[in-house]
Amino acid sequence: MYCTKCNKHYPDDYIECPICLNSLEKEPIRNQIEYQELYPIYTPPDASLLAIAKSLLESEGIEFWVQNEKLQNLLGAGQLMGFNQIFGSPKIYVNKENIELSKELLKDLTVINDNQKE
Ligand SMILES: [Zn+2]
Repeated sequence: MYCTKCNKHYPDDYIECPICLNSLEKEPIRNQIEYQELYPIYTPPDASLLAIAKSLLESEGIEFWVQNEKLQNLLGAGQLMGFNQIFGSPKIYVNKENIELSKELLKDLTVINDNQKE
């Protein structure tokens, strides 16, 4: 069984997602953007950079999809300390035609990120 909200896969006897309480489907149902081929363009190191990256993409009207975002939102305390590594960091995906523009938009965020690591 599949949760259509968080895309998790559960055993067949599950009827409800234990994480988001969404009712489960026999087949994964993907929303429209997921039918396109998606490419990861940015992995934000914390929730504030994720929010900035999303607003930059939104301001250009770029469609994007964030992997792991919903799981992270359930762990409010974890966000203060950076992302919870159990579920992995959120990754921002865009479709092929938006890769170059998105990378250009988020270039400065990536640089900030690299500097902080050093
Ligand atoms: Zn779920």
